[in-house]
Amino acid sequence: MLFTCDDAWFGGWRGRSILRIEAGRLSYAGPAEGTSVEADVDGHVGATVLAPLTDSHVHLGLIDVGALVGGGIARVVDLGWDPALATTWPARGAAADSDWPEVSTSGGLLCAPGGYPSRSAWAPPAAALEAADAAQAREVLQSLQDRGATVAKITLNTDAGPVWDDDLLAAVVREAHDLGLPVVAHAQGVGQTRRAARAGVDALAHTPFSERLDDDLLDDLAGRMTWISTLAIHDRDGAGTGGSSASAAASAYPTAVDNLARFHARGGHVLYGTDLGNGDLPVGLNGRELAALAEAGLGTDAILHALTPGSGEPTFDTRLVSLIAERPTTVAELAAARVTTLPELARSAE
Ligand SMILES: [Zn+2]
Repeated sequence: MLFTCDDAWFGGWRGRSILRIEAGRLSYAGPAEGTSVEADVDGHVGATVLAPLTDSHVHLGLIDVGALVGGGIARVVDLGWDPALATTWPARGAAADSDWPEVSTSGGLLCAPGGYPSRSAWAPPAAALEAADAAQAREVLQSLQDRGATVAKITLNTDAGPVWDDDLLAAVVREAHDLGLPVVAHAQGVGQTRRAARAGVDALAHTPFSERLDDDLLDDLAGRMTWISTLAIHDRDGAGTGGSSASAAASAYPTAVDNLARFHARGGHVLYGTDLGNGDLPVGLNGRELAALAEAGLGTDAILHALTPGSGEPTFDTRLVSLIAERPTTVAELAAARVTTLPELARSAE
């Protein structure tokens, strides 16, 4: 079916738009004004339709997944669990009658022998996939990909164990890229962000919080790296939220906000992510994360970009969308967006 809506966000504001639902998926079909198609539409939704709001860093194994959609999150990227479980999740998120969000996953977390999170209480033993050389990394990544992983999660956390040396790190990244997998790194400890950058890592799972990054490094990173925000894992008072991956250092929150502000000001690509599951975080759209992004200088539209990765691609389609009355001008208004299924959306079209 085709229908119009008051306004739409798919990779940017589109104004009054035509949307298409076909085979259980919705896609953006173009502007409504000035097209002959508008006469043939099946109805009008008197609201603003947003691409599905996405949390790009979660751990589904630690939360009540069925509560996510009701909390305002329509799509997630799981960055590490027991791969035997994790790689069954994308199918659940794709099922038409599922109460799950759409899911993509890394399967497990690739690390140096003894590296993070192999000694961390939050991670099941099978989640930490230790690789001692490039061939072993290749084998692990291949098996994860065969089971549905679409991203490689690696760890470089000198606060919690050994890490690969520069040569092996670069080789692991090359193996992932060779398989077509983008690489997301947990970089923690002084110098680890720079090492990740040198090795060609595509994204950081957390805004760097171990150190204030130099301007020259940020100049370099802004053009080629994505940062997943996770600012709200740090307590503003420095006590931490209990999350095992968050530094409890008093300076972690202001350091992360300052790094993100300067990365964003240079045009760096930011994604909304919460590390949901680690620590005491609300299951759904996190108002503290949104407020922290605003504190780092992201306006409402920049935050919407961070919440809707890929939604401007011509091939983008989705099983769930987010709905809001009208264009939000504050993060509080944005936080009112609610997830709706396509049958519900179709029923609301008059
Ligand atoms: Zn995480």
